Amino acid sequence: MSLPRLQNFIDGQFMANKSGETITVLNPGTGEAIYDIEVADETVQEAAIESAKAAFKKWSATPAVERARVLHRAAALLREHNDELARHEVLDTGKPLQEAREVDVVTGADVIEFFASLAPTQVGQQQDLGGDFYYTRKEPLGICAGIGAWNYPIQIACWKSAPALAAGNTMIFKPSEETPRGAIELAKIYIEAGVPAGVFNVVIGDGKVGQWLTQHEDIEKVSFTGEVATGRKVVESAASTLKDVTMELGGKSPLLVFEDADISQAVSAAMLGNFFTQGEVCTNCTRVFVHESIMDAFMEELVSRTTNNIRAGDPMDPEVNFGAMISKPHLDLVMDYIEKGKNEGARLVTGGNTMSPDDAKGGFFVEPTIFADCTDDMTIVKEEIFGPVMSVLSFRDEEEAIRRANNTPLGLAAGVMTQNVTRAHRVIHQLQAGICWVNSWGASPAEMPVGGYKMSGIGRENGIETLNQYTQTKSVYMGM
Ligand code: NAD
Repeated sequence: MSLPRLQNFIDGQFMANKSGETITVLNPGTGEAIYDIEVADETVQEAAIESAKAAFKKWSATPAVERARVLHRAAALLREHNDELARHEVLDTGKPLQEAREVDVVTGADVIEFFASLAPTQVGQQQDLGGDFYYTRKEPLGICAGIGAWNYPIQIACWKSAPALAAGNTMIFKPSEETPRGAIELAKIYIEAGVPAGVFNVVIGDGKVGQWLTQHEDIEKVSFTGEVATGRKVVESAASTLKDVTMELGGKSPLLVFEDADISQAVSAAMLGNFFTQGEVCTNCTRVFVHESIMDAFMEELVSRTTNNIRAGDPMDPEVNFGAMISKPHLDLVMDYIEKGKNEGARLVTGGNTMSPDDAKGGFFVEPTIFADCTDDMTIVKEEIFGPVMSVLSFRDEEEAIRRANNTPLGLAAGVMTQNVTRAHRVIHQLQAGICWVNSWGASPAEMPVGGYKMSGIGRENGIETLNQYTQTKSVYMGM
């Protein structure tokens, strides 16, 4: 039986490719093929550019309050369809329905509302120069490209398109070939909300479609989410036409648990930062540094809660809180890391195996895995695994913890667990990371800018400053 087909979404409607090239998308929870996508070929690509160009003329000339009005409508539609959209996300990603319902769509809608509200606040300035004067205009950039990863498909599409569209740009978005449905659903919602056709086009396909976007001379900016190695290729490619870039890349983030931490709170942070979305989160605190004096108590509660409270199974089951890896190759990669952890001398405390839950046979499941007695030179401590694998390390004093936490080329997130407020700020100010949490982990409200230090990224998403990254300033000198 042939599978349903998903086509590109260009100029407000679905468009077939001519090449006939397709990629099959699997449900990670069952391993079954669910639909084929039509890879954007040259015809589709050209249509996407032409439509985005034409739409830019109209959208950039639309008053900001009107842009805000339709974007608010889109956010309301996302909330209205939350359950149905969350189910699409579960089928594509293998994450648990309870998470997709509570986080993915809602945080996408939050960010659209945030930037819609900010759109009319974009104002220029004017200054008198003793007769002559100048003024500035905040103008949109033009056509922006968004390229997404597979772990938060609809959220990433919302987070990238919201500031771009609010500022009057158009966007051509390429979701991951493994999870393309969310972006297409968002494109349909934008149309229903009244966003003009062509303002948000979706091209689907693998890296070569992404590469085409990053090279195209008519595209002014690329906002990318994905691996560091791919990000580097994107920056190199974008350099040929000197495009602006925003890079949201990988991490190997530290959580520092001091001797005065509330142990239950610290365990909650470590579990959230390693097992939420079955460990496939860029900001994960995969290096958990625990003060030697509380190591035993910390480990006891961590292992007990991990073995008792995590329930893997059919991701569509609302009681399940731990889903499947995105694909078989990714599962194999995670298992390779677990083997390296064992071979390099880390102590496997719990997990370490694949799983085959009764109600989700064929799915790509890995047990929540904890390694203790880890050292800084181990592969599992140095490299991003992007799976449910936590490394626990012991430390003696604050200076040592900070030095070791910063001993990585990555710098996405970091956290500190302590009851001492002065220490919390002192330590956080020395950690090389763009997103920091104190006595918590993972919250990322629309108002808060997020992005990486060092090789974890360039630029920021969310927060007031991001809107500026989607405008350019024109200065006009008036001779009187
Ligand atoms: P990936 O780099 O393999 O792919 C990301 C996207 O890039 C996909 O759409 C892919 O098709 C496209 N792509 C591949 N080659 C390309 C090329 N040469 N030019 C342009 N585009 C190309 O990443 P992934 O496996 O989808 O996602 C996992 C990674 O994403 C992890 O490293 C994770 O840390 C990171 N991530 C970061 C954030 C963040 O906000 N910092 C958020 C989510 C995920």
